[in-house]
Amino acid sequence: MLVRDFKVKMKGVYDDGFLNTLPSTCFDPRCGSPTEMSDVLTGLHCNNPRCPSKIAIRIVAMMNKLGVKDFSGKGKRVDDFITKWGVDNPLSIFCYELSDGTLGDNISMDMSTKIFNQLDTKRAFTLAEYVRIANMPFIQTSAFKIFSDYDDLAEAYRDIEEGGVEFIRNKLNIGKGSGVSKEVEDSLIDSEDAIPDISVRALKIYQSLMTYKQDLFDVLPFVKIINTHAEGMVTLKVKCTEEVGKPYRTKAEFYSEVNNLYGNLHVEFVDNATKELDYLVWAGAEDDSVRVSRKVEKVTGWNEQYKKREAEGALKSTDKYIPIVSATQLLKILEGLSSK
Ligand SMILES: [Zn+2]
Repeated sequence: MLVRDFKVKMKGVYDDGFLNTLPSTCFDPRCGSPTEMSDVLTGLHCNNPRCPSKIAIRIVAMMNKLGVKDFSGKGKRVDDFITKWGVDNPLSIFCYELSDGTLGDNISMDMSTKIFNQLDTKRAFTLAEYVRIANMPFIQTSAFKIFSDYDDLAEAYRDIEEGGVEFIRNKLNIGKGSGVSKEVEDSLIDSEDAIPDISVRALKIYQSLMTYKQDLFDVLPFVKIINTHAEGMVTLKVKCTEEVGKPYRTKAEFYSEVNNLYGNLHVEFVDNATKELDYLVWAGAEDDSVRVSRKVEKVTGWNEQYKKREAEGALKSTDKYIPIVSATQLLKILEGLSSK
């Protein structure tokens, strides 16, 4: 309920001093919307889905996920950008062009160019990745479950609106083959996972998809959706360790290069090392001086187990050997696969 209603209702139940400490409006001066919370004083939040503070948090999360430097970190640049353009859709950063001027009133043209150039190499997504990157409330892992079967946003929304909450619920129930393993799911800090009841979760996800539907459609012409379901399309699951190897300084640099190389190949860079991986990328694959990370140990362990079982003739259908390669080695493998 609204905090201001709570204060009226609870007058006499709680003392005035305490009730006065509860904020009736959003802390963000740009917003000023009423606040809400539960009857038991939990979950205090601003009730405006377009609250500038929330938009800023979603943009920062998006930039971190994309590996765009200089625009992450909570702070002035994001707020400058929001203020200059009146941004209420985080995805609209993809609509920005250098001819528009600077990103924000206190952001230089040099810095704007630097940020734009990074962002410009990261416009290629699968439909599910695009939905997830928007960071809509309650939608992270579920983006993969709901959108993985589609390349076309309009088609996906036709099914969602026709099938309603029940459709979402059914999609959430599909565990295996949804594109995300249990382990990856567990690693995500996801507000959606905080809701144990799947029906309630489905409803929240459905509402969020409806609330922000237009945001997704508005920015669609400014990104490139990879047609993963096109004939001959190969999708690989790859996990990168912190050090991928020369000439890449960061993982993000490598990610964008890989997925802009071949039209018939999509590499899904996953968050965790799971047995569903096709490759683990690690600089140490061709450089002895690189530290062995825990992920490398983990995959090496699986591979040793695989070889042991293979030697015993006891391989299970789910067993898989996961090659550990450097970034440049992976590029060579991709080149080979793309010309098949
Ligand atoms: Zn607010």
